[in-house]
Amino acid sequence: AASEVHYRRILLKLSGEALAGNQGYGIDPTVIGNIAQEIKDVTDLGVQVALVIGGGNIFRGVAAASKGMDRASADYMGMLATVMNSLAMQDALEQVGILTRVLSAIEMREVAEPYIRRRAIRHLEKGRVVIFAAGTGNPYFTTDTAASLRAMEINADIILKATKVDGVYSADPKKDHDAVKYSTLTYLEVLKKGLQVMDATATSLCMDNDLPIMVFDLTVDGNIVRAVKGEDIGTIVKG
Ligand code: UDP
Repeated sequence: AASEVHYRRILLKLSGEALAGNQGYGIDPTVIGNIAQEIKDVTDLGVQVALVIGGGNIFRGVAAASKGMDRASADYMGMLATVMNSLAMQDALEQVGILTRVLSAIEMREVAEPYIRRRAIRHLEKGRVVIFAAGTGNPYFTTDTAASLRAMEINADIILKATKVDGVYSADPKKDHDAVKYSTLTYLEVLKKGLQVMDATATSLCMDNDLPIMVFDLTVDGNIVRAVKGEDIGTIVKG
């Protein structure tokens, strides 16, 4: 099975909204169950999977700060939201029979292991899915940046960035009929054109360390498997 796959160790970045389904808020058990099943299909191919999940379906620091809340406090709430999502995903993965460990950047030993890099790698080598919770542990960052940082730390082959569109376009394809999809982009193009791939901090971190990013559509069944097999289903950002 391993020969079918293009990437041996992946970091899958899910936004919080990916767990919300049509509700647009909170966690939809059906949606999270489907994602867990797709992750199982990927681990069945022998691929090592690490996950970073956002928190936007529950709380976003910038949004709260814009209404007057202290930014750092709001960001800590956002990080706690990612822990809730991570626990929900752990449960969903366990329900489909996958051993999973949540490693939190903010210590809360009763709930999750503390993030220890070597331990994360050991879990992956043993075939466990690891979920990196609480972002980077620092305010003023995003879970995209956490995904880039952790991907680098565990030597992932690629970041798979799950979205609701099948790649990166020159303009919003829903509004502009002339919008074209890029099959590949360089990091510098993403930064210069201000394309919505990941934020600039996350993108430049990947650029400095030559870590490719694939933007793909999570709403199409089977796409995570297609992505790890190297099929041309989205946009790849590289050097
Ligand atoms: N956050 C943070 N530091 C981090 C990661 C996340 O402060 O390293 C906070 C920030 O407030 C952010 C929230 O957690 O708004 C949720 O993360 P994010 O917005 O990246 O989630 P997503 O958009 O992927 O759902």
